[in-house]
Amino acid sequence: MTSDVQDAIARANGWVREANRIVVLTGAGISTDSGIPDFRGPNGLWTRNPAAEKASDISYYLADPEVRRASWQARLTAPAWTAEPNVGHRAVADLEHRGVLHALITQNIDGLHQRAGIDADRVIEVHGTIWYSRCWSCADRRPMHETLDRVRAGDPDPACELCGGILKSDTISFGQSLVPEVIDRAMRVSQQAEVFVAIGSTLSVYPVAGCVPLAKSHGARVVVVNAEPTAMDAVADCVIRGAIGEVLPRLFADGANT
Ligand code: NAD
Repeated sequence: MTSDVQDAIARANGWVREANRIVVLTGAGISTDSGIPDFRGPNGLWTRNPAAEKASDISYYLADPEVRRASWQARLTAPAWTAEPNVGHRAVADLEHRGVLHALITQNIDGLHQRAGIDADRVIEVHGTIWYSRCWSCADRRPMHETLDRVRAGDPDPACELCGGILKSDTISFGQSLVPEVIDRAMRVSQQAEVFVAIGSTLSVYPVAGCVPLAKSHGARVVVVNAEPTAMDAVADCVIRGAIGEVLPRLFADGANT
């Protein structure tokens, strides 16, 4: 870690220690140390295979049974089923245990923040969760493992048991609208932050990336933690360019553990 990065962490750590209302926004980068690849990082799924971006568009999923069959096969072995929370997830959970985490907005669908011990009520999953399946027609929602059991039993593209509609994971695909109450809540908590920390995201996916300038315009100190430049570096009061697993324990340290 260079001295510039250490200085940036020390400066932002001062703001964190003084704050009573911290809002954290996480992207796929916080889960790469748990073995779940991101999309746009150097080893990202889309960086290595640009065609995969197209396959995650909702219009292809709904129109083509072949795309759905391939998706169900991929879901059977998704890394999220076996991944464990890492140092980064635990550092964010420590903020909650200290009573200063106002809310956690996440673009991730893997459920690792909750498994690291953060109260599910405090987690705003703007892009949904892979742990449930949902019917595209009647919105029936049930645990993903029940639907995957049907795939394992030989149904390559299981239909909704209530209405026969198309099932998918309860995540927001490209081309699909966000859930208004969920993104509204993300925007609302962003306006209430004293310190807003964006971690492991290119901050290029809207509307959630808009939380960053919104927090800033309502008076928050904005900190960006990412290995690469992000679309919001110019908005940030402090940019920390480094590995999340090294940066977060220092950035979120309180007096007791430094
Ligand atoms: P992204 O793939 O666009 O960007 C991730 C960023 O994190 C990259 O800039 C990368 O350099 C950085 N990064 C990766 N590992 C890092 C590390 N250990 N330390 C520091 N930086 C690191 O991610 P995004 O902006 O969150 O957008 C991708 C979308 O895809 C999300 O909206 C999400 O819904 C979905 N997604 C979710 C998961 C998941 O749930 N874990 C995984 C992949 C994609």
